[in-house]
Amino acid sequence: MNVYRNYINGQWLESASDQTAPNINPANIKDIIGTIKLSTREEARTAVEAAYNAFKGWRNTPAPTRGRIVARFARLLEDDKANLAQILTREEGKTLAESGGELSRSINVAEFCAGESRRLNGETIQSELPANFAYTIKEPHGVVAIITPWNFPVAIPVWKIAPALVAGNTVAFKPAEATPATAVRICELFEEAGLPPGVLNLILGAGAEVGDEIVNHPAVRAISFTGSTAAGIKLYEQAARRGARVQCEMGGKNPVVVLEDCDLDLAIESTAQGAFGSTGQRCTATSRAVVIDKVADEFVSKIVARAQKMRIGAGDDANTEMGPIVDEKQFKNVLKYIDIGREDGAELLTGGGRATGENLEDGYFVEPTIFDRVTPDMRIAQEEIFGPVLSILRVKDFDEAMTVANDSEYGLTSSIFTNDPNLIFRFVQEIETGMTHINSPTTGGEAHIPFGGVKMTGIGAREQGSTALDFYTELKVVYVDYTGRKREGNLY
Ligand code: NAD
Repeated sequence: MNVYRNYINGQWLESASDQTAPNINPANIKDIIGTIKLSTREEARTAVEAAYNAFKGWRNTPAPTRGRIVARFARLLEDDKANLAQILTREEGKTLAESGGELSRSINVAEFCAGESRRLNGETIQSELPANFAYTIKEPHGVVAIITPWNFPVAIPVWKIAPALVAGNTVAFKPAEATPATAVRICELFEEAGLPPGVLNLILGAGAEVGDEIVNHPAVRAISFTGSTAAGIKLYEQAARRGARVQCEMGGKNPVVVLEDCDLDLAIESTAQGAFGSTGQRCTATSRAVVIDKVADEFVSKIVARAQKMRIGAGDDANTEMGPIVDEKQFKNVLKYIDIGREDGAELLTGGGRATGENLEDGYFVEPTIFDRVTPDMRIAQEEIFGPVLSILRVKDFDEAMTVANDSEYGLTSSIFTNDPNLIFRFVQEIETGMTHINSPTTGGEAHIPFGGVKMTGIGAREQGSTALDFYTELKVVYVDYTGRKREGNLY
């Protein structure tokens, strides 16, 4: 049996813990891929200490040299793409096409970050005083904790680790318990790319144990977290007490607004893609369709027909459009929310339970599910489900659509379907999300474009793109006086 090991100070070490959990293929729970050992708090401290000890050497390595290692990692990732896509599909469940997409995004991000290593620039600033000037330097924090979820177990670690390293930080990386195999492979590729020992450390284990230990370790100066809002807000509070920097990307409840003048077929196809792609297990998944009454009946009948045609199955079957839910806990959670929708009086149009049929009995498969006549006060309209469940909320006009779309504690992404330019720009101005899409699904993003949310979804600097390095650097301001004389006049 494959036992996943920690990577600490350049060595692959099996945890001494006797607590283990199986890594299970969610499409076929009889397929046990390996065993994750839930590391101890002491091992987590060792990982942080290794990162701490490696920091001085790494920060003194020229940024373009650091970038070259990240560029080599990008090449290795490209060479390993087919293999890693298989690993990803087997342990997380998404289709091979979706895994390929995630890998492409990861390669693009690593390439982008490698390039940024030659642009780690500050600015020079004129002074009010003669023979004086000031300049700024971007400096790394020190040890950065990177804590990631299971739903994009390659892309999210890469879009955090690559900029952290380029900026000169060292890393303690704690991936989700459900996806250890991809995390191990990422670290193997970084090792092969030539990363010195201790610069990147992998610690496998439970969030409440090793995650908690890392978050509260005094040597950890910054924490980049992606996951649920409950866990993110908790670690934000803990880190605030000791002034550690925090970046959290958390839950979402992303709306599409469908207006009467839009290309309805495009709106339907895009909403289905956003709601059921990656089995709804995307932070950017479409979970609410806010539809103008006049087109609601047509929208509803066509999207139901689309959902009923979805081919459900194992991710490694080329025919499959929608894979399983990642694990038993999430599977039960999604089914629980479907029950809540029924109990709260929403009209179940299609789906509503476990998907059955040939080759589905041993996996965590859920039917694509659509509820109509959902009202904003219902729990399925407010709480993140993280599965293939779409709520349709009918509204009379644009103004009501905006009120309903913004009636959420979350604010990651959104989209609008209309061809009216005035309403498009009003939507862009009024929608309370960190990202928004015009006539395209709520999902998707590019390596060189900032990513992140507002309200209870996002805290701290945006990830990726021109803002990727903001979180991983501190600004130092340097004043230079070359008069050689004591300063005269006011000193502020
Ligand atoms: P989760 O919060 O359960 O776990 C995320 C990570 O945090 C895991 O590694 C976990 O072990 C760790 N963790 C949990 N408790 C911790 C604690 N007390 N201290 C330190 N670490 C702790 O989330 P999940 O179920 O793995 O992922 C799904 C969630 O992630 C969804 O809410 C989804 O919206 C969110 N997500 C958000 C984005 C985004 O960019 N906004 C992207 C992907 C996923």
